[in-house]
Amino acid sequence: MNLSLISEKLGMPEWRLRGAIKRHSVQVFSYSGMEMLLFRKDVGSVERGTVVFGEEVVRGYPKIKRALVLRAAVAAWGAERVAVEEKLNGYNVRVALVAGSPVAVTRGGHVCPYTTARLAESEGIRSFLGENPEYMLCGEVVGSSNPYVVHRYREAGSFGFFVFDVRHRETNEPLSVPERQRLLAEHGLPGVPLLGVFPKDEVAERVLELVEVLEREGREGVVLKDYEMVEEPLKYTPSATNLSDLRHAFAYPYDYGRDFFFSRILREAYIAVERGLSGEELERAASELGKSILLPMVESIRRVEKGEVLGESYELEFRSEDELLQLLEFLRRQGVSVQVELMEDGRKARLKKLRHASTDRIRAVLKSGT
Ligand code: ATP
Ligand code: MG
Repeated sequence: MNLSLISEKLGMPEWRLRGAIKRHSVQVFSYSGMEMLLFRKDVGSVERGTVVFGEEVVRGYPKIKRALVLRAAVAAWGAERVAVEEKLNGYNVRVALVAGSPVAVTRGGHVCPYTTARLAESEGIRSFLGENPEYMLCGEVVGSSNPYVVHRYREAGSFGFFVFDVRHRETNEPLSVPERQRLLAEHGLPGVPLLGVFPKDEVAERVLELVEVLEREGREGVVLKDYEMVEEPLKYTPSATNLSDLRHAFAYPYDYGRDFFFSRILREAYIAVERGLSGEELERAASELGKSILLPMVESIRRVEKGEVLGESYELEFRSEDELLQLLEFLRRQGVSVQVELMEDGRKARLKKLRHASTDRIRAVLKSGT
């Protein structure tokens, strides 16, 4: 591979890239006959999830800082004019042209064959990237039919892709909010819902109101963006989102890291304080938090007791059997264990991702009692 050209494109000295390869922070491998680099960790200012296909760079999607106490986070922030976007609950995908065709890359930097096949059908994506090959589309895939995150949105149906960022694929430089909107509209591509644009001193109060509505509708939260996209964005999610994460994770308690649980419990405490909860309201929040921890664990333990293997099911639609086989091979390489059930017409399948760590540990405790 031409490491000197690649390091120049990434804006890092070549010795640094070579060092990262030696330490395995950057993995070298081949993919459909092409030499590839995958950044498994941040290296200098180059994000984890960055991939290089031959010499074609697709930078990683940057981490978004979370506001725990919204008013304080906004006050400490530099943006003067703020676009408040909905935070959709799906999975992060970057789409860019590789050897002339759109390829869908996951947050970790893997090409997902299922997502690539679905998105390559989009005329808007083809025309956008055809005219702007130096950019990548960063968006959330949401809906009921995918192998990662199932969440129903009335506007998405089984598979929707909503763009939240247009970035230069080599420098990761983002377009401003209005530039992004203009380009997306030109190609008929849907963006994430824009809930409003507010001056800095109004934002926190407006967001607290907006989030209450989103919360009632079962929607995840918001991302605040500097209208000019100079300052880094901030994300904020309501209690219902934390609780639903906790319910999900505590159903598989040995499959998640402790940080996942602890961080979400802390978020609940800051939210309760910022919302000024006390008395009965605080009692209710405490009881909801407790329920979202205890109930899923009790249910899972009972399932294992009955002999079940824990896991989550996903429904998928395919155009061909080959697509399904490619996805299964991809998941296998990622170390995901699945059970597959083909549905009637052979164009739909149900995948059950098996949670072996939790099933085995719970089974062992039930058997030994210790
Ligand atoms: P991060 O590393 O960015 O903190 P995370 O995996 O912990 O990510 P989340 O808490 O889900 O993720 O929040 C960030 C993610 O939210 C983004 O990576 C993106 O996939 C998703 N997202 C949904 N809607 C938006 C939006 N409007 N703007 C930016 N990101 C969005
Ligand atoms: Mg997410």
